[in-house]
Amino acid sequence: MKDNGFNSLDLKQAVMRGIKEMGFVTPSPIQAQAIPLVLGGHDLIAQAQTGTGKTAAFSIPILNRLEKNGDIEALIITPTRELAMQISDEVFKLGKFLRIKTVCVYGGQSIRRQCELLDNKPQVLVATPGRLLDHLKNGRIANFEPKIVVLDESDEMLDMGFLDDVEEIFSYLPGSRQTLLFSATMPDQIKYLAQKILDRPKHVKITPANITNTDITQKCYVINEGHRDEAIIRLLDVLTPAKSIVFTSTKREADALCERLIQARYKSGALHGDMDQRARMDSIRAFKNGKINILVATDVAARGLDISDVSHVFNYHIPLNPESYVHRIGRTGRAGRKGMAITLITPLEFKEFKKIQDEVKHSLEIEELPSFDESHNQFVQKILKTKISDEAMGIYTDLIDKSDETNGILKLISFMLQMGLERKIGPTQKEIDKLKNQDKHRSSKERDYRGYGRYHRQEGYRGGRRR
Ligand code: ADP
Ligand code: MG
Repeated sequence: MKDNGFNSLDLKQAVMRGIKEMGFVTPSPIQAQAIPLVLGGHDLIAQAQTGTGKTAAFSIPILNRLEKNGDIEALIITPTRELAMQISDEVFKLGKFLRIKTVCVYGGQSIRRQCELLDNKPQVLVATPGRLLDHLKNGRIANFEPKIVVLDESDEMLDMGFLDDVEEIFSYLPGSRQTLLFSATMPDQIKYLAQKILDRPKHVKITPANITNTDITQKCYVINEGHRDEAIIRLLDVLTPAKSIVFTSTKREADALCERLIQARYKSGALHGDMDQRARMDSIRAFKNGKINILVATDVAARGLDISDVSHVFNYHIPLNPESYVHRIGRTGRAGRKGMAITLITPLEFKEFKKIQDEVKHSLEIEELPSFDESHNQFVQKILKTKISDEAMGIYTDLIDKSDETNGILKLISFMLQMGLERKIGPTQKEIDKLKNQDKHRSSKERDYRGYGRYHRQEGYRGGRRR
């Protein structure tokens, strides 16, 4: 009988229940390939992009092999505290019916507290390299002989400068262990490391082309340097993404753009390496629970994080290389959902971006940036759908009373208020067109200016006052 589900993998009943509880029906390609190899006791090098289900690819067979003999049986090493917590959470959920205990060990948390947790006899330890090495060097983990060791996000550990620590950690681990190395990319240093710590490994590779073509629509917009913020704002207004990540190339840019978006009342937060752990966790949590729906992030900070329902990814600049591009756009279209990836490029960046698109086997098509009218229209619609508070009402009516301005922005506001208050429905296309026609009396220069970011509109109005 043909079976595409997890049934054919011959897993324990309790593990199958955990998988069902997670809502997984069919193993992802990396899971289908990796799980039998891990169950068979092989060392493994597994290469697959972000969002392909690597966590469960090692967690499921690990859980299946646990004996609950009182030892720490599995060790999972991962580069950041956020990832450690995410993995520990997934292992815990999948292992719910096995009553598995997991402990997370990372820098920044009290050593005493961690030792107490370790005394609880967890079966699975999830750790970041620095703190783990610290515990090992100081002999704080008793009888530490994990039989399965996972290196998760290995390329990321390389990027963050953890490879020496990782190597040293292995000097404390038993030679008889089974070792699994997971990575999105395979730079030479990771290959060397693999030669040192793995024993006759099996290789599994899911190539990026499989992913990028299917679930993610890729678009690019040509803009001029200096117009990146404005372009992002227009696109946000027109596309109204449910949940988006904007990737910037520097921490500073991330802060600046985020600041600008917040000022313009977008629910946005930053995520980059200069923020302390707490601030980073706050951003991630807010993004996950919907308090914010735009995350402005740098590559390193966002790598590997599982935020499953991102609808749009924006590249504020073109990424440095195809790997990074694939990583970034892999934040959307996760686990079979549809997603959209949008890249802003300047004429200067065009050639470079073409190379990246060739690499990921996508044929580049340039889209036209939505016009001001288009994004403005969307903006009006959005306002009309918002309930206006009494306080705001007061301010607006006040403003209209005090002014003898009859054209332009005030008229627009009063129109919007009427719509919102009397009928609570959107205007007809005809009405919007009428408004836009009024707007055409303004000089084109002025209209251009007003097109950039809604919070400059006030200034545009002041400057363009006329009778
Ligand atoms: P990676 O580590 O490869 O970046 P994750 O392990 O974080 O990917 O998984 C990405 C998302 O896919 C998670 O939300 C996870 O719960 C989900 N997922 C994993 N495996 C499956 C599956 N077999 N079916 C459905 N969803 C899955
Ligand atoms: Mg992962």
